Order: sequence, then C-alpha cells, then structure tokens
Amino acid sequence: MERGITTVWITGDQCSPRNTALRGLDPAGTVVLMIESLARARQLPYHKRKLVLIFAAMRSFADDLRAAGWHVDYYRERENYEGPLAEHVARFAPARILAMTQSEFGVDARLAELTGALGLELETTEHANFISTGAEFERLFSRGQTRITMETFYRAMRVKTGILMDDGRPVGGAWNFDAENRKPPKRGMRFPPEPAVPLRAHTSDAIALVEKHFADHPGVVGTFDIPVTRADALAYADDFFRHRLSNFGPYEDAMLAGETRLYHSRLSAAINVGLLHPLELCERAELAYRNGVAPLASVEGFVRQLIGWREFVWQTYWRTMPEYRSRNALDAALPVPAFYIDGETQMACQADAHRTVRELGWAHHIVRLMVLGNFALIAGIEPQAMTDWFWFMFVDGYDWVMVPNVIGMTLHADGGLVGTKPYAASANYIDKMSNYCSGCHYNPKMTTGADACPYNALYWDFIARNERRFAKNPRMSLPVRNWARRDDAAKTAIRERAAALRATLRAGGRF
Ligand SMILES: Cc1cc2nc3c(=O)[nH]c(=O)nc-3n(C[C@H](O)[C@H](O)[C@H](O)COP(=O)(O)OP(=O)(O)OC[C@H]3O[C@@H](n4cnc5c(N)ncnc54)[C@H](O)[C@@H]3O)c2cc1C
Ligand code: SF4
Repeated sequence: MERGITTVWITGDQCSPRNTALRGLDPAGTVVLMIESLARARQLPYHKRKLVLIFAAMRSFADDLRAAGWHVDYYRERENYEGPLAEHVARFAPARILAMTQSEFGVDARLAELTGALGLELETTEHANFISTGAEFERLFSRGQTRITMETFYRAMRVKTGILMDDGRPVGGAWNFDAENRKPPKRGMRFPPEPAVPLRAHTSDAIALVEKHFADHPGVVGTFDIPVTRADALAYADDFFRHRLSNFGPYEDAMLAGETRLYHSRLSAAINVGLLHPLELCERAELAYRNGVAPLASVEGFVRQLIGWREFVWQTYWRTMPEYRSRNALDAALPVPAFYIDGETQMACQADAHRTVRELGWAHHIVRLMVLGNFALIAGIEPQAMTDWFWFMFVDGYDWVMVPNVIGMTLHADGGLVGTKPYAASANYIDKMSNYCSGCHYNPKMTTGADACPYNALYWDFIARNERRFAKNPRMSLPVRNWARRDDAAKTAIRERAAALRATLRAGGRF
C-alpha cells in the first residue's frame, strides 16, 4: 500500500457505526486498525461473558466495516498492542493515526505513548456514544461544588435533545414521574419470553477463545444471549420496546427470586460497546409514548436512565478523575466478602443476586444498588475493592460507569457529591420490594439473635458509626433520631451483633 494513508485505531468498546474517528475520511486512503490484546483482557479477572462480548463484537464490527468498504487490518488473539501496532506501521507506513477518545481515564495517554514510540502522534476525536459535552456540565456545576444533582442535568438534556418536550415544556407537565414508578412485585406476575439472540460464528469462536485463555475467570458463558452485532442489538431493543417498555416504569424497583430481568431493557452491554446509541433508543421510546403504545411514566423513566443518569455519570467521571476513584469518605475498610466471589451464603437475596451475576454478568439496577451495593455500604466494604468487583463481574462494566455508580451513588464514598443521602436500607426495604425474604434462612423482622437478618444490625450499626456526620444531613436525620431514641441495652445488643458480623467478614468468613 502506498505511503500517506490514515490509520484509524478502533478499540473494543468503540464498535459504533458513528465512530467519530472515521467521520469525513475516504475509505480508499484509510486503514482501520483493530487489535485483540490478551494482556488487556487479563487486566482484571473479567467475567467470561464480558470477554466473549468484546471479542465477538470487535470481529463482527470489522465485518460490518469491510462490508461498508473500509480496509480493516485486524490482529486476532495477540498478547499486547505493541507487536501488532509495530507490524501495522511497518506494513502501511501511515502518515496519521486517529482514534476516538477512550472511555476510561488514562487510556488515551497510554495509546499515545505506544504510537509516539513509533513516531506517530495520536490524534483523538470526541466520543460518539454520549449526547452531552463537558462544557454543558461545567455550565451547570462550577468546579469545587460539593454537590451536583442528576435532576438539574437531566432537565438540561431534555431541553437539548427535545425528547419528551412540547413547546419547550416537559410533556405531561412534569419532568419526573418517579413517584408512580415504585411498585413492589405482584404475586403471579408473568413476563414476556426472552428473545432469541442468534449465535453468530464470531460468538462461537470468541467463546472458544475465552475458554482457552481465560478459563480461570469468573462467571459462566452459558447460553450466550448478548447481541454482538448492531443488527442483533437493534432486534433485541425492538423486542424490549414491544414487550417490556410499558411496564418498565411501575416495576423498575421490583425484585423477584429467580426472575432476573422483569421489565428492564438489558441493553447496557450493547450500548456501552457502541452497538446502540442512547439517543436512538430515547427517540424510539418517545415514539412508543406518542403512538399510545407505552405510558408516559414508563417512557420518561427509561429516558431518564439514558439521558439523565448515564450522561451524568459520564460527565462526573471526567470532571473528577483521577482523584475521585480513591475517595473513601466513610473510612470503609473491610475486604470484599467471600460470598461475592463464590455466591455461597444463607442470605436469600444475596444468593439470588450472585447466581444471576455468575450466570449473566448482569443484574438489574435495584439488585446492584439495594442488595449488593447496600450490603457493601452498611457493612463497610472498601470502596476501591468494591468498584473493581463490580467492574470485572458485570458485562456492561467500565471504569467510567463503575466509579461514579459505586464510589458515588452506592457507597457514598465521595462524601455526597452525587447523592444527597446514602442508599442505606435494612431488610424492610428488600422485604417490601421483593419476595426474597419469604424463602430466606434469616428473619427480616429481627435485628439481633442468630436468625436475625444481617442487613438489620449492619444498617443500624452503620447509622451509629456515622451518627455525627449524618446528623447534619436533613435527609438522614430521621434514622439518626430513631437510633438515638433506642435504649442503651438495645443499642449494645445491635452493635455487638453487627461487630460479630463484621468480624466474620474481616476474617473472610460468611453467613
Ligand atoms: C453498583 C452499581 C454498578 C453499576 N454498574 C454499571 C455498569 O458497569 N455499567 C452500566 O452501564 N451501568 C451500571 N450501573 C447502572 C445500572 O444499574 C445499569 O446500567 C442497568 O442496570 C443496566 O441494565 P439495563 O440495560 O436493563 O438498564 P435499564 O434499567 O433498562 O436502563 C436503561 C439504560 O439506562 C442506562 N442507565 C441506567 N442507570 C444508569 C446509571 N446509574 N449509570 C449509567 N447508566 C445507567 C443504561 O445504559 C441502561 O441500559 C450500575 C449501577 C449500580 C448501582
Ligand atoms: S431476610 Fe435479610 S438476608 Fe434474607 S432475603 Fe431478606 S433481606 Fe435478604
């Protein structure tokens, strides 16, 4: 090939037809570079399904690019980036090298170092899979602000995109219908069948690759049902819009033993590798509302997750990194519990959540937040270790989305930057929003004694450990007052039970 071509380097979570590094380029003068790095995949013990997804999505995306006329120089199963990059440069002698900016902090600099060593300065283009800009975030939240709220940002994104807006005002006269979206599960609920996801040749090959190189990684591949091509991802999304969106809102927070998905979209894995764009999904959801197919509360709830929460955590990450990742405002120091690794516990809610995560690499938001995350919060698990655990166990996990969700939203380790109060709860919440407790070894109504639900003593102990801090927070003053009202004997019994539970966790034990 002649000198003067442009190289576009596309990495694993950039399988987007909107990849901005390709924008405006002539396929005749461009070579797309894609490298599978085994070392990168070993950086953490990623769930097997996540690795299958990344490798299969990359190979499928390369096919799509070739079909669209791009020349793709693809390196399979290579140890690291260095060797293939040098081979590529020797073979094509590119005049320029471009890449869409990376989603994780520090990776742009690392890739620039690699290309720089070969005499090529890496040019980066903006990320394609978000709708907000850093400037928009900065306009709303000045640097140094101690609290930033998703709701403020979300409203700005509604105005910017025009999603669910009529003449500059929110459709239905309100920005947020969350109050209608907190129904517990109903007895005998039935759910639509899971759509069949075709097992592509690249998926089978990626499964073999993962079993060969990453057999010791956690999780099982099982029946692989995550879409790895854009066409399959669109079909999966279509099934959600047809069969689940209507009930998404009311049952968003509900949990059921053995029923992992309920009405959630399970689209995060496909969105985060670039196969789907958040805006196209919001437009489709809005259409369902405008056509009378789905109620406003469900559609608004879904839109808020995408152009509210997802954008908000993305901007928070880039505003606060790298310092944010190391925050530990509540001085939590216990190790990740043994049952977060092997799922062996007598707590029914935890056991179900870990089975789901092992089998799917996924659990819905409330299971993450109120079962897995809440336990880590009230028990006092070290935030950085917990962030890593969520990052490697989930198919949709990336540093940019884990750090704000775990350090901030879940563990309150940022001292309340993104959440006005910690999402701490006793068994009462889990019992109300699920059917777990009826099948549990532990009693959700008891706080002390061997049969008492561990969440209860840990919850009150968490309030007691942070009494002074939370007394200043108006949204926490009620539990603080409730704790203060208890007599000394009750307080002592609860704290002794919590101390025993925490000592068990510290020693690597389980309950
Ligand atoms: C402890 C914890 C860890 C999390 N880790 C991740 C993660 O690694 N990757 C990830 O994409 N999401 C993460 N989330 C957010 C959320 O739980 C998942 O996006 C959601 O459960 C994915 O399932 P779904 O596609 O069915 O989502 P749905 O409930 O159908 O929501 C639709 C979409 O909204 C977006 N979304 C919703 N909430 C959030 C949020 N808080 N942050 C970012 N995007 C959001 C996702 O793209 C999701 O696909 C985490 C939340 C918590 C509490
Ligand atoms: S009793 Fe406690 S541990 Fe058991 S399912 Fe309920 S909340 Fe979970």
